[in-house]
Amino acid sequence: MHSARDSSNGFSIRQPVPFVRAGQVKVNISPTLLKHYAQCPHRVRLQYIERVVHPRVYNHFLSQGLIAHDLLRFGATCLKRHLPYPDDAHLFRMANLRVSADEFPTPEACHGYVEQIVRWVRRGPSSLDLQAEVLLVEKFRSRPFGGGDGGSTTSLLFRPDLVLRCKDGDGSFVQVIDYKTGSRFVDDDVGVIARYILKPLLRDLFADPSTARVSYTYVWLEHGVHDDRDLTIEFCEDRWTSITATIDRLYAETAWPPNPTKLCRYCPYNGNACSAYRPESLAELDA
Ligand code: SF4
Repeated sequence: MHSARDSSNGFSIRQPVPFVRAGQVKVNISPTLLKHYAQCPHRVRLQYIERVVHPRVYNHFLSQGLIAHDLLRFGATCLKRHLPYPDDAHLFRMANLRVSADEFPTPEACHGYVEQIVRWVRRGPSSLDLQAEVLLVEKFRSRPFGGGDGGSTTSLLFRPDLVLRCKDGDGSFVQVIDYKTGSRFVDDDVGVIARYILKPLLRDLFADPSTARVSYTYVWLEHGVHDDRDLTIEFCEDRWTSITATIDRLYAETAWPPNPTKLCRYCPYNGNACSAYRPESLAELDA
């Protein structure tokens, strides 16, 4: 890889490189990749094109969220197998097995950490119809998507936390569940991409997949609330234009400029492969 130094900010400028290269067999685009691209093109270059390995940085909240997702997956698998949802004692045991008490200053701190995980996981089923048929539990699904150059094939990729087939007075519908432990922010594009990817599944379930009812539910585990979106065809078509425009920009991108913002604090390349974000900028960003 060729690179040169820009002495004005110490940022390493590399040669232009496209996202999809001629002859490359398959490239997957996930909602997370598109979110990262909107936040900072340079991060996409480092993570998805150059595949720069970053050091593992322990993040207390991320680690808690991963354990919670692990337990939620277990709970959803129980439902899929028609077994009872795990009770609190079971959840505590499972969470304790995934936590190292040595990482905490006191046993109380460790207990508080586990308690919060269990509180989140308990809120998971509260937003579900427990009689619903469990179709998918954290399973990657992809669907080809046209584009790219030189015969490359691109797929849109998505891993839903849970997909249910529910019934109400108007018949059956599909509900996609997305568990979140962070702050409440709804990204409608994720649901639209989910509906695009799940079309083969809808085809198996409904005579006409284009009229099938699909909803996307964000479950905010910290807040104990959920946000539902009806993924009607009109709603999806409306958002689809901007999603494909973003993917077209991604295909056309070669410069991958850095975009230093407060989000750099959470970027694993900050101070590692990327030096665009400078601590002295912090005051400006906080202003
Ligand atoms: S540190 Fe900031 S500017 Fe650099 S890649 Fe990460 S998000 Fe982009």
